[in-house]
Amino acid sequence: MSVTEPQTTSSEAARRHLLSPAEDMAKLGSAARPLLRHAEGIHLFDADGRALIDGPGGMWCSQIGYGRQEMADAIASQVMALPYNSPWHSINGPAAELARRIATLTPGDLDHIFFTTGGSTAVDSALRFVQYFNNVLERPAKKKILVRYRSYHGSTELAASCSPRPQASPFDTADPKIVVLSSPDARDRPAGMSEEEHGLALAAEFERVIAREGAETLGAFIAEPVQASGGVIVPPANYFALMRAICAQHDILFIADEVVTGFGRLGHWFASEAVMGIVPDLIVFAKGVTSGYVPMGGFAISDRILARVSGEHAKGRYFSNGYTYSGHPVAAAAALANIAIFEREEILAHVRAVAPHFQAGLRALRRYRLVTDVRGAGLVGCVECAGDDDAMKQAIGARVDRHCQELGLVVRPIVNNCVLSPPLIIKRAEIDQMMDILAKAIELTEADLM
Ligand code: PLP
Repeated sequence: MSVTEPQTTSSEAARRHLLSPAEDMAKLGSAARPLLRHAEGIHLFDADGRALIDGPGGMWCSQIGYGRQEMADAIASQVMALPYNSPWHSINGPAAELARRIATLTPGDLDHIFFTTGGSTAVDSALRFVQYFNNVLERPAKKKILVRYRSYHGSTELAASCSPRPQASPFDTADPKIVVLSSPDARDRPAGMSEEEHGLALAAEFERVIAREGAETLGAFIAEPVQASGGVIVPPANYFALMRAICAQHDILFIADEVVTGFGRLGHWFASEAVMGIVPDLIVFAKGVTSGYVPMGGFAISDRILARVSGEHAKGRYFSNGYTYSGHPVAAAAALANIAIFEREEILAHVRAVAPHFQAGLRALRRYRLVTDVRGAGLVGCVECAGDDDAMKQAIGARVDRHCQELGLVVRPIVNNCVLSPPLIIKRAEIDQMMDILAKAIELTEADLM
C-alpha cells in the first residue's frame, strides 16, 4: 500500500484489510459488523454512541464488565514496572502470585499452574501434557483423546480437532488421535428415558468405547462442564461423576475445559467440584481469568499426577511448551486485579443470587411458537429457534440477532441458537431489560415469517 493513499475510516479499513476469526469468505469484505468505540459496565457503545447490552459478555469473558479504572491502573503500573520477562530464564512476581492464588481456588490437589496466551493454547498444552505423561511413563500408545460431539475446545490444530460439530468443516483434523463420544444432550435422549438413565447410557457408551479401543490407547478425556459453543448443553446430573470414575479406573486423565465456566459463570470459581461434583486431573481456564481485559489462559494440574512424571525418571525430559508470553507479567497483574474485584464485590454470590431469575426469564420465552428449546445454567443460556433446514435455521438466528441489535441488545447467534452469557455484574432489572428485548425480537421475527 502506498503511504500517500488517503486515510480510510476504521470500517472501510476493516472491510479491506481485517480478516475476522469467523470470516464468511463468500462475502469477503462485505460483512457489516458494528464498529465499537467504547464500553462501560454491561454496555457497548457503537460509533454513533448508541448503547447495546453486551448479551454474550464479549465471547463469554467479560465477567466484571467494562471501564474498570482498577484494571487500567494495575495494567499500567505493571507495564511501567516490568512489562516483560523471559519465562525461560526468570520469574515475575505477578505470575508467581497468580499461580498461588489460582491454586487456592481450584479443587483438590490441582496446585500447579501453567500459563498460556488463551484458551486454545491452554487446551493444546494440556493435551501435549498427556503426550508427555505417557511418554515418560513409557506407554507410547496411550495417547488418544476422548472428546464429545458438539464440543468446542479452541482453534489450534489439536484443540480444533477435538471439537467435532454438526457443521461441515473446511479444515483437516488430527483424526487418528481423536475418539468421539456422544454429546450429553437432552435433545438426543430417547423418548421415555429419564435423565438419570440417560447419564447411565452415556457412561455405558464410554465403557463400550474403552473396550473397543483398548484402555492402553486412551490418554485423556476432555469435557466442558456445559458445552457452550455447541449450544449451551447441560449434561444429566449424574453424568460427570460416572465419567470421572471410569477415567480413574482406566488411568485416563480427566481434563475439565473450564474456559467458559471458570471464573464465575456458574456462580463458583470453577464448576468442576461445585457443580459437576468431581475433582479432575487438569482444569483448563482462560477468558474470565482476566475478564477479557488482556489475553491469558492456562491449566491447573494435580500434584499427584505431576509426581508420577517428575523427579528421577523424568531426567532430561523437559515439559517444553515454550511460549514467549507464558505467565506474562501484565496479564498476570490484570488477572490479580480481576480476582480482587471478584472478591471485593462478592461477584460469585451475586451470580448465584441472580442466576435463577436469568434462567426463569429465558424459560418464559418458551411461550413463543418460534422457540423450540431453552437451555442454560448459572449466567449462561440459550434460546433455540425453529427452522426446517440448516439454511432456514441460520436465517432465523440471523434475523433474531438483527432485531436484537436494532433494539439495543447483542446476542450471539450460533446457527439458530441465540446465546446469552452477560457480564456477571448484571443486575436483575438489566436481566429483565435483556429478556424484554429478546422477546420483542422473537415477536418481530415471527411476524417476518408470516
Ligand atoms: N475452550 C472452550 C470451552 C471455549 O469455549 C473456547 C473459546 O470459546 C476455547 C476453549 C478457546 O479459547 P480461546 O478462544 O481463548 O483460544
